[in-house]
Parts: sequence; structure tokens; C-alpha cells
Amino acid sequence: MKDLEYDEVYCNDSQTTIPFIDIVTVNGRLKSNINKDHLYCPECKMALLKFSNRSSLRRACLSSRKLTDHLLSCSHYYKDASKEEICTHYEALTTAQIQAKLQSAINRFLLSPAHPVHPTVPLEIDDNPAITMIENNGVRERKRLPTRSLNKSIYNPESVIYETPILFYGNIKLKTINCVSKKDFSYNKLAICSKNGNPYCKLFCGYHWDDKTININNDYHIAFIGYYKKNPNSKIPKIEIYANSKQELQQSVLYILIQ
Ligand SMILES: [Zn+2]
Repeated sequence: MKDLEYDEVYCNDSQTTIPFIDIVTVNGRLKSNINKDHLYCPECKMALLKFSNRSSLRRACLSSRKLTDHLLSCSHYYKDASKEEICTHYEALTTAQIQAKLQSAINRFLLSPAHPVHPTVPLEIDDNPAITMIENNGVRERKRLPTRSLNKSIYNPESVIYETPILFYGNIKLKTINCVSKKDFSYNKLAICSKNGNPYCKLFCGYHWDDKTININNDYHIAFIGYYKKNPNSKIPKIEIYANSKQELQQSVLYILIQ
């Protein structure tokens, strides 16, 4: 199934970016306090989005009216890369390129100004971590790589693409959780937590995080490359850190303490 295209939306009324699930009723309709004519692309904040109610054939969703309503530097301007194209893109990245991509995700998706009133200085297209150049039979074309915001719950099993690298990012709390393996080997997981400190996603990412480097009282920006994996014990999929053959797991994770 196709990934949920917009998991956040920019509301012109409140000038804030809010999670998609916060604008939808349990019946899959737009909440009555949300103005359907004021919903914009969360990335470029320029393209007006169309809300479609849930029907027997599909879930509620947001879509672009025209791809060209987006800025050229917005990843939603471009067609989605296929699973194969996404996997090939990530497999080719070096450690330095992964780190640059994560830094650029934090800069662009978490630190960008609230609203580009005069987008006369368009952001560079090739700095966008969610845009890649695909070459197919000698034809070069830019395409969109999947992203997922962690600013609310990330568990919407209806809208998950499995076993495919996804760029996750968000403003979150973190803590480390100590685990012991069956062979009595002790290690830490990095847990992404809601504002009240409840962990909702535990990531195994190597051995170098502990409660001296991570503090639950702090707020963090995080970006990482991960992928959804089916969970045999639950309807909720697991998220694993992605690393290609050139990388250590922790090189696919970047977090920045918010001062
Ligand atoms: Zn856009």
C-alpha cells in the first residue's frame, strides 16, 4: 500500500504545522473546527491541499491539487520514487552523505521559518534530503523519497510501507532503556518518548548511548533513517534503524539537544 503522503499539514489559520490525525474525526472526516480551504503543504507551505473523507475504498487523506502548486524545492513537487529506487538510493550513500542528509532534514523540516511569506529565495532543490535524482535508461528525473514525522504517534498500520528506508524526523524526548539479551549481554535501546515521557518507539542503535548522554528532561530534534518491520506479536509495526553495508547503525541517527 502507498505510504500516507501527508502525515502533517500546515494550517494557515494558526500558522502551525499539525499532525494529520489531529484534523480527522474517528469517522474519517475533517473536524468541524478546521477550515478545509486553509490546509497547506507542510514542507513548502505554498500548495493548497485537498482533504478527502474516508470511504469504503480508501482512508481519509490529504492530496495535492496539482504537483506544480508546490515550490520546485519541495519534495512533494516530484513523483514518488519506487521501493527499488529508494533502496538503491540509500544503499549507495556514504557515511558522510547520510550525516549530511540527517543534518539537512533537521534544518529544513524542523528549523525552517513558520511561513515563507515571500519565497523569493527558494531553498536549493538538491539540499532537500527527500529529493533524489533517478537515472533510468539515460533519462534523469528527480523523485520524492518517503519521510515520516515523529511529532505525534507514528503508528498508523494502515499507512505503512514495510522494509523500505524512510527518513524519520521530529521534536521529541529521548531516554535510554537498558536491556539484557538471552545470553546475559547488557545493552541500551534509545527510546523516542511522548511529551509525558512514555516511550512509543524503541530503537536498537549500537552501544554508545547511556543515561549520561541522554536525559529525559531535555527536548531533542532527531532525524534518522529507519524502516518499518512487521511485528509478529502486535498489529503495531516495529521501527528498525537502517544502515547499509558501509555504515554503523548509529551513523544513521542524528539528534540535537534543543537549548
Ligand atoms: Zn509543498
